[in-house]
Amino acid sequence: MKSVEELTARFRAHGLRVTPQRQAVFRLLAGNDTHPTVEAIHAGVRAEMPTVSLRTVYQTVHDLARLGEVHVLDVGTGQVRVDPNVEEAHHHLVCTRCGRMDDVAVEAPAPPATPGFRAERVEVIVRGTCAACEAAAGGPHRAPGGATVRRTEHETAHETAHETQEATCRS
Ligand SMILES: [Zn+2]
Ligand SMILES: [Zn+2]
Repeated sequence: MKSVEELTARFRAHGLRVTPQRQAVFRLLAGNDTHPTVEAIHAGVRAEMPTVSLRTVYQTVHDLARLGEVHVLDVGTGQVRVDPNVEEAHHHLVCTRCGRMDDVAVEAPAPPATPGFRAERVEVIVRGTCAACEAAAGGPHRAPGGATVRRTEHETAHETAHETQEATCRS
């Protein structure tokens, strides 16, 4: 993601308003790798600027996304997630228990050639359990015979094969 100064200039060049509240959103997102929800961004900005409204944060995220400065992702955790890392192509690990989301560098398969469908990109979402949730749940399972079986082994293997395809209908 660009610096606060660069984003300010870019917003102005596109005729978008830049307020101290909007700049606080820029600052909160810069280098933020937690994939925060809009609500989490709002909470963070409010710590600094108690009067900022959720609506302002939504609008700022929307404008950032429209300019391609952030990605807004729906990974099935119930709320959209904001990803300021638009520079490096990457995919995501998603904890099915707490919603934690981390970047992961994996090679996505090429989109299949499918008649009547223009594939644009393949997104890989690996679902499983993060270390904190696994520890809270009592750690890895002990299988009979003493072999340690990770709770998420099956789930992860299964979901790795499940890529989300986003594409546009040919009309
Ligand atoms: Zn977790
Ligand atoms: Zn990411």
